Amino acid sequence: MVKKKYEKPVIKKLQMGFMNKFGRGYLSHIRQAIDGVSIDKLVEMYGSPQFVFSEKRLRQNYRRLYNSFSNRYPNVQFGWSYKTNYLNAICAILHKEGEVAEVVSEFEYEKARNLGVPGHKIIFNGPFKTISSLKRALEEGAIINIDHFEEIQDIERLAQSLNKKVKVGIRINMDTGIVPQWSRFGFNLESGQALDAVKRIAYGKRLVLNGLHCHIGTFILEPKAYSLEIEKMVNFAYQIEDDFGFKIEYLDIGGGFPSKNRLKGIYLPPEVIIPSGEDFAEAICDTLLRCLRPNDFPKLILETGRAIVDEAGYLITTVHAIKRMPDGLRAYVVDAGVNLLFTSFWYKFNIEIDREVQGIPEPSIIYGPLCMNIDVVEESINLPPLPRGTRLIISPVGAYNVTQWMQFINYRPAVSLITIEGKIELIREPETLDDILGKEKLPQKLQLNLED
Ligand SMILES: *Cc1c(COP(=O)(O)O)cnc(C)c1O
Repeated sequence: MVKKKYEKPVIKKLQMGFMNKFGRGYLSHIRQAIDGVSIDKLVEMYGSPQFVFSEKRLRQNYRRLYNSFSNRYPNVQFGWSYKTNYLNAICAILHKEGEVAEVVSEFEYEKARNLGVPGHKIIFNGPFKTISSLKRALEEGAIINIDHFEEIQDIERLAQSLNKKVKVGIRINMDTGIVPQWSRFGFNLESGQALDAVKRIAYGKRLVLNGLHCHIGTFILEPKAYSLEIEKMVNFAYQIEDDFGFKIEYLDIGGGFPSKNRLKGIYLPPEVIIPSGEDFAEAICDTLLRCLRPNDFPKLILETGRAIVDEAGYLITTVHAIKRMPDGLRAYVVDAGVNLLFTSFWYKFNIEIDREVQGIPEPSIIYGPLCMNIDVVEESINLPPLPRGTRLIISPVGAYNVTQWMQFINYRPAVSLITIEGKIELIREPETLDDILGKEKLPQKLQLNLED
């Protein structure tokens, strides 16, 4: 065991509301490597800031969750939610694990096809599907979940022009006790709108309804909400089968499982309040098996996003400056801002440092590099006096950040992957001026000639 350095005893006033030296010690928050690759090495190769993904963790998370379902139910398929993270390398790993693609726009559809995912392995969701994307999806045999009545009409017209009867699913929304209720997507169940959609499809005679889709929300902490969802879906499926003669071949229950991240304002650690994948799987599969008729095993589809990728992602950032604020708070300016950390609005991340630092921890604030007052990466964290150059490792940041990040004031940084074999692969190059100028056009009359 490494002997800890001697620290002089001190008397220090306790500040309410902050963690303090006598609570959780900061020394447990040192991280010098990710999956055995040193932070120094990563920065030396691809700079700071840098997003780093762990292939090992990604595969582990997927397998753990998939197995908790497939051990309990015989017909399970996961669909990778592209919007959660659509970097090719991340999608490819999950496709190799067996996930199909779940896309919600023409862009995402094209991205999946470009990566090599065949149409019949794409689930096409979302409230805005262009006619051209619907046409392509129909031709290529994608699974389409209809969002609204206009889309029923769009698809009927396309089915007519393609002269074929096409299978479709519908998205429904319902009360599962989750507030706010997500009722803007699909057809509402309780009001009878979902039934109207089924009637409309049946009367149209051009489409064959074969699936139901529902996505009740995100970061759901209540397995019971899913039990309720699946129960209502199964009952509705049988109502459709009995009254309209359609066979519901899949029940797609969407995503929404939480990652082990800490929501702002919730002080219990994630390990305490966040149910495990097993808890969700048990609630869902028990209810499913209880509600299904004998020998009927429709495909159970899950579109879990954040629970699979969040913990596989880290952001390395570097202390650039140290300030003392007028109220006495110590402040740091680091090289990664909230434009790279969209989820910082909801999460209080783990922040680890890459070295042991001598000195008394005190409440500190971490600012990003943007010239914007809102650029606060962490409002309050107890840190020893970090010298310039200290690396901070922020996690979990694998979900939604590398899709919702925006180019603003600075270039977006490199994204690397540590493979199972321990190799460092660059999976997205850092941006350069050309990436941004490539799309700009300067009208002839505005060409500058300020030199003379
Ligand atoms: C965003 C989304 C998901 C993934 O949600 P998570 O909360 O990240 O699991 C799945 N399905 C649909 C339709 C979505 O819009």
